[in-house]
Amino acid sequence: MVADDYDVIVVGAGGDGPVAAWKLADAGLSVLVLEAGPFYGNEKWPKPSEEPGGAVSSSVADLSGELLDEQFTTREFEMVNKLLFGPADHERGFWFRKFPGDGAILQCAGVGGTTLHYTGCHPRAYPASIDEQGHWPIDYADLLPYYWEIETMCEVTPAPVTAKEELFFRGAAAAGWPLLHDHNVTEPGYRPQPNAIRQPDPKLHVDAGYDGDFTYPEVQGDTLALGNIAGNPHPRGAPYEEKAKRSSNVSFVPAALATGNVSIRPNAFVTDIRTETPLGDTPSVTGVRFRDTWSGRTERVDAEVVILAAGAIETPRLWLNADLPRNEWVGRGLTIHFGDNVMGLWKADDLEERLGKGTVDQHEGQDIAARFDYPGLGMLQTVGTTPGVGAILGFGASASGFTFQNDPTDAPWDTMGRLAGPELKRLLAGYPRMLQILVVSDDRPHRRNGVTVTPGLADEHGPIPVVNYEPSEGDQKRRDELATIAADILREAGASHVHRSDSPPTALHVHSTMRMGEVLDEACEAHDVDRLFVADHSALSNGVGGANPTNTGQALAARTADKILERYF
Ligand SMILES: Cc1cc2nc3c(=O)[nH]c(=O)nc-3n(C[C@H](O)[C@H](O)[C@H](O)COP(=O)(O)OP(=O)(O)OC[C@H]3O[C@@H](n4cnc5c(N)ncnc54)[C@H](O)[C@@H]3O)c2cc1C
Repeated sequence: MVADDYDVIVVGAGGDGPVAAWKLADAGLSVLVLEAGPFYGNEKWPKPSEEPGGAVSSSVADLSGELLDEQFTTREFEMVNKLLFGPADHERGFWFRKFPGDGAILQCAGVGGTTLHYTGCHPRAYPASIDEQGHWPIDYADLLPYYWEIETMCEVTPAPVTAKEELFFRGAAAAGWPLLHDHNVTEPGYRPQPNAIRQPDPKLHVDAGYDGDFTYPEVQGDTLALGNIAGNPHPRGAPYEEKAKRSSNVSFVPAALATGNVSIRPNAFVTDIRTETPLGDTPSVTGVRFRDTWSGRTERVDAEVVILAAGAIETPRLWLNADLPRNEWVGRGLTIHFGDNVMGLWKADDLEERLGKGTVDQHEGQDIAARFDYPGLGMLQTVGTTPGVGAILGFGASASGFTFQNDPTDAPWDTMGRLAGPELKRLLAGYPRMLQILVVSDDRPHRRNGVTVTPGLADEHGPIPVVNYEPSEGDQKRRDELATIAADILREAGASHVHRSDSPPTALHVHSTMRMGEVLDEACEAHDVDRLFVADHSALSNGVGGANPTNTGQALAARTADKILERYF
């Protein structure tokens, strides 16, 4: 049970919801956060996937690093199965959503949301994507104070450089691109990734000769052992708030609970938004109805203000399933940073000459620690993966069939498509000498792309989201240009073989389905429903130019919290 009414209800404890909850609770409001997935590392739910556990968590003392260490193992396959978009009880499977083609929507349910998966890359939007693309009702300058606030909370710092980043930087410099120094990127160039991951302990420097066991308190900060997409429990033994990756469960959730004004209820799937409509007036929100995912029972709770923070797929689904006014942009304008993968393979001798060793060692360092920005096109970033994940991303699926179906003559890559047979074996065997580049393009919002619901296609929470995504010619062109730059950087860095996967659309970054300026006003309040706000990536007016979106989503959520205080409290 939760209390009957609150000042504010936040729907979803993912990347952005906890930011708004923290700011509002810090100002003295009573806040209830309803989260569909489980709460890992919380004493109230010691076995979150096996039994229902407690009702709500309202104290920072409920958080336990020891428990998180038990639940977030370093076994990647186990963690990928645990961090899925489904209920705490994994025996009940996924929550289904329909996505076209071979692609998928990568999202995670639970306190922390998809930041449990995220690799901590925390750059700002490209100013031009806000000020020059014409989609936004606010200026880039409006976000600047909020960027500083978020970057301080998330301890954003330039990522440390290991071999894979050094190789990428050498290639980018040799290809003639400059090193960037500014947070606000206006020109193309390369730089270390600004990551929401604590700096590694100085004793982990290559020359320091540390041979300990990488546990807290001997090692504090990042351990450089990858694992960010698997929750990242490092350093083992650290208290909950001292974990290196500043996913929202580790950064904003403890801060919110520490105010004493926030209650978080996991396993609570919101299925309806309740409103009242004074005669002839705009509807005004009064609360929500949610379903307990263990018992199946539904409850109702009221509030002065409701904030939707269920992510860019579920927030429009919720609106469409609730009896709210129709707005032609609800669910429309989806951007996913239409991505691709370009891989370089080196001969051992060539690497030896450049790095002083014959391997790239993708498994060392932070998962994603070097980037190339190109405002107007998007970005590239190096990816350190384990062999399995790397093979799936780089070789496992392609929009252009198998490599033998594509003629690479005149292309900047040697092979393109899905790999099979001897060529797959050759490239996989070269994993230690390979560098993967993720291409992330600045796809633009189009009305045809987005989320709809159909009454016949439903689960226990109502009609499921049916997602459409089809890149435009311009989106394709920007992605091709970036893939060509990636191939050039790899060649300049000495790669002897370059492979492009031509990946099918996959929703890794999901935004702009409840866009400010169309569905929301400049304070992120719904045009058509009073006191109903959105604070997740669906509120972004576009894909922020291709930069990783979480810093901007969180900055906007912090700004929205200030606007709520100004308007209603
Ligand atoms: C592998 C991977 C790596 C990534 N790396 C990065 C990165 O390095 N940098 C970056 O900026 N971004 C990264 N992202 C993307 C980033 O994680 C997301 O963009 C971000 O978490 C989105 O925040 P959000 O609040 O919009 O949604 P989410 O974080 O998805 O949160 C939504 C929350 O709402 C809950 N919810 C949904 N429906 C309901 C409902 N009806 N009732 C109650 N609760 C509900 C969900 O369970 C979830 O917890 C990555 C994503 C993936 C998959």
